[in-house]
Amino acid sequence: MLLRHTPKEITERSAVVINPAKTCQPIGAMYAALGIQGCLPHSHGSQGCCAYHRSALTRHYKEPVSASTSSFTEGSSVFGGQANLLQAINNIFTVYNPEVIAVHTTCLSETIGDDLNQIFDKATKEGTIPKGKTVLGAPTPSYVGSHVTGFSNMVKAMANLAEPTGKKNGKVNVIPGWVEPSDMEEIKRLAKMVGADITLFPDTSGVLNGPLSGEYHMFPKGGVTVAELKGCGDAIGTLALGDWCSADAARLLDTKYKVPCRVLDIPYGLKATDRFIDALRTVAGTVVPEEVSYERGQLVDLISDMHQYFYHKKVAIYGDPDQVIAMTEFLVSIDMCPVHIVTGTPGKRFEKRIKELTKDSPFPVNVRHKGDMFLLHQWIKNEPVDLLIGNTYGKYIARDEDIPFIRWGFPILDRQGHQYFPTVGYKGGLRFLEKVLGALMDRMDRDAAEEKFELVY
Ligand code: SF4
Repeated sequence: MLLRHTPKEITERSAVVINPAKTCQPIGAMYAALGIQGCLPHSHGSQGCCAYHRSALTRHYKEPVSASTSSFTEGSSVFGGQANLLQAINNIFTVYNPEVIAVHTTCLSETIGDDLNQIFDKATKEGTIPKGKTVLGAPTPSYVGSHVTGFSNMVKAMANLAEPTGKKNGKVNVIPGWVEPSDMEEIKRLAKMVGADITLFPDTSGVLNGPLSGEYHMFPKGGVTVAELKGCGDAIGTLALGDWCSADAARLLDTKYKVPCRVLDIPYGLKATDRFIDALRTVAGTVVPEEVSYERGQLVDLISDMHQYFYHKKVAIYGDPDQVIAMTEFLVSIDMCPVHIVTGTPGKRFEKRIKELTKDSPFPVNVRHKGDMFLLHQWIKNEPVDLLIGNTYGKYIARDEDIPFIRWGFPILDRQGHQYFPTVGYKGGLRFLEKVLGALMDRMDRDAAEEKFELVY
């Protein structure tokens, strides 16, 4: 009982978070930056922040994550980090020669009040940014928001690179939100099948799930290029997958460059994937081919085969708002019952959306934004569930309460391979359902009396 001190009785707390269901902003900014081709993320703060953010990403993606730091000392903490960042930009282009440096701030540089744009202007005037190279920046103070906010801020900075020519290029911008590199690959595959020419940004596929080739490339081939980002302002439309991670960038392109945007859910499950495919088809003016309908039919078939085992099973789920909203819809659509739902990221609209999705639930539903794992555990103690879904941190609750557990979301620190398998799209839905049923039936087998231990279900 590792969490044996978690009491069943719930006391409302306003000033303390216990076992947060989120992490800090720069991790999201760093992940998004890795989705730009030839980009070195740069942490404008102390070395400790950068080391933590890099290791968090490395532990999840099982790939080396390179990033540089302004290496604040006591002096920069008092007088500001401008000199450090100017020196860093010079050193990075001289030593590592990336195409792009994507700078994000930290708690310390934000508290001091460092102005990234003013520092970039100075670097440009001093000639430390070589011709043809790009430096962009995002504010990511970690005392507000979460890693999700940091991701969104960096994606917005990417959209800000748009340089419209005034002539539409026929492409559709797709902002995938915080999903796995394999999900980004799957979104590109689906778009290709539908015949939509898309610019996906960020795009970490090929960066954090690339092959082992025997050669080291500090900047892998994957990622959206700066030229593609510049072309975003000429697109015929933008699809933002997820309100928290992607909508700000899409709205920026809409208001600034008149690129019409639609905010959709991450395409988890049948309904959200249908909406994504339909939106792609509509914006790109194409026709959905038979191959896509075939994949859809396979998911419908699997749902109908498995439905008897899913019916009215109670689920606790936690994670990032865009992901949890889309997954809650998927679970409800197969007649499972999410009853405890938590995100650590702020945003009251999360609770509103979840309540809408679960309004016909036969069981009472607990939902909380800015919640924590401690509260989730207490809810489970009061109303046990059949399945727990979320990142690695849930393993303590799963063990103490003896609940089947599916690792999903970020971070997954204690398992391997997740970065190679998509959850989005019809194919992703197949894989996810296989995992859910596997977890439920493993438990059935484990608990079955000998006379009820079946070979065939
Ligand atoms: S919370 Fe702030 S100080 Fe701590 S690692 Fe994150 S950015 Fe650095």
